[in-house]
Amino acid sequence: MQARLLIDGALVNGANTIDVINPATGKSFATAARADETQALAAIAAAKRAFAGWAALSFKERAAKVSELAEAIEARKDQFARLLTEEVGKPLVEAGFEVAETVDALRFFAKQDLAPKVLHDDEEELIVEQRYPQGVVAAITPWNFPLALLSYKIGAALVAGNSVISKPAPTTPLTTLLLGEIAADIFPAGVFQTLVDQNDLGPLLTSHPDIAHVSFTGSTPTGKKVLASAADTLKRFTLELGGNDAAIVLDDIDIETMAPKIFFAAFINAGQVCFATKRVYAPRAMVDELAAALAKLANEAVVGDGLEQGTTIGPIQNKMQYDKVLGFIQSAKDEGGTFLAGGEAIEGDGYFIRPTIVTGLSHGARLVREEQFGPVLPILPYDSIDEAVQWANEMEYGLGGIIWTGDVERGAEVASRIQTGTIWVNRHLVLPKDVPFGGAKQSGIGVQNGIEGIEDFTQRRVLNVKKTI
Ligand code: NAD
Repeated sequence: MQARLLIDGALVNGANTIDVINPATGKSFATAARADETQALAAIAAAKRAFAGWAALSFKERAAKVSELAEAIEARKDQFARLLTEEVGKPLVEAGFEVAETVDALRFFAKQDLAPKVLHDDEEELIVEQRYPQGVVAAITPWNFPLALLSYKIGAALVAGNSVISKPAPTTPLTTLLLGEIAADIFPAGVFQTLVDQNDLGPLLTSHPDIAHVSFTGSTPTGKKVLASAADTLKRFTLELGGNDAAIVLDDIDIETMAPKIFFAAFINAGQVCFATKRVYAPRAMVDELAAALAKLANEAVVGDGLEQGTTIGPIQNKMQYDKVLGFIQSAKDEGGTFLAGGEAIEGDGYFIRPTIVTGLSHGARLVREEQFGPVLPILPYDSIDEAVQWANEMEYGLGGIIWTGDVERGAEVASRIQTGTIWVNRHLVLPKDVPFGGAKQSGIGVQNGIEGIEDFTQRRVLNVKKTI
């Protein structure tokens, strides 16, 4: 049986199918429906039809439906978590966190409101900023957090009154399709739909005149294609793209205390996190000790099938990314890196790579300059804070980053010089729902979460009334 698409209120088979691979085994474990162009066009038409009725409901009425979706996901949280582990590879505990995050996000959006803002109100005039929905939103997601990243989009877009077509990455379609199955009983036909492709329907969605907004999370190269494709119809868009986050370690840290935190920030979800630490800068005198502490943690990590208890690092999600990460390891070898841990794949059918710690690379090395998106971490020395800040800022990316320090004030001062959308001090991945996040430079345009994340899915209308006739 194939996991089905949700189009115009009906759960339907695809024109084709996709074999879904469990990255821990390298073998297919499920079949997903794959839509063709005709089904994609049918979904766009249904979303357009559904839009007017959905937009006409009050914010509260729509929010109640989004709350219902949160409840329904929570009621099946174990099923969602297992499916996430099977399709993404992440340890079951991390999958459980992702499901909880998804439910939380939907509940957050359901509790907000988009009240009009009175800008001028006196005897002469009334000027009010109103917000109304944009239309059909295409929500395009990557494979590392297929559920949580989708919830940021659909929660905000749906409460704001848009209809949504969700398109997951072809290697992780199942949790999105399960969400569609649940949504079929909650939303009116066409308000929320799911399409699965083989990386071939994106351009149709991002260029179609009846799509009002493209909310895209994925790599920077694909994001640029989305931007170009959306230009012709001047679509609204949100781009959450790649990153090459730096962690700057200040000379006042206690290595033993901080090393596990630095390690976790780099290796959570096997490093396949947009906000993962992808390069570490440490004072020259501390590099060896820090790298040794990180290497010890890498050697102690339990790499394996996320369904097995005790696994701390799962596989790389797909074969293409696995080959790419191995290419980064090779490049670090070619460029004279010293490997203190890992540096190779684990024999077998799954896409496992040992957590890898590398020193001795120059700032120009490929592993330092490009986004590896995998469990391979370079540690680099700096001689002054100015130098570390300059290197952190030098990249085309500007997503996140972390300052690790024993002196919070000093940490905040250094952090305030980093050109990214989010910069943490002594913590990582803390993304409260009421706080917007987004990328600087080539890490993205627009924000998700916060009230701004909802406003991004609306059109501002200024109502301007002269009170005297
Ligand atoms: P990707 O760009 O290859 O794919 C993302 C999505 O885009 C998939 O659904 C894919 O099918 C679709 N797609 C492919 N070609 C398209 C096209 N021409 N038009 C429209 N859509 C198209 O990214 P990925 O490899 O799945 O994800 C990893 C990347 O995502 C990393 O760079 C990571 O940093 C980034 N990411 C960013 C964030 C963030 O919030 N900034 C979050 C997670 C991941």
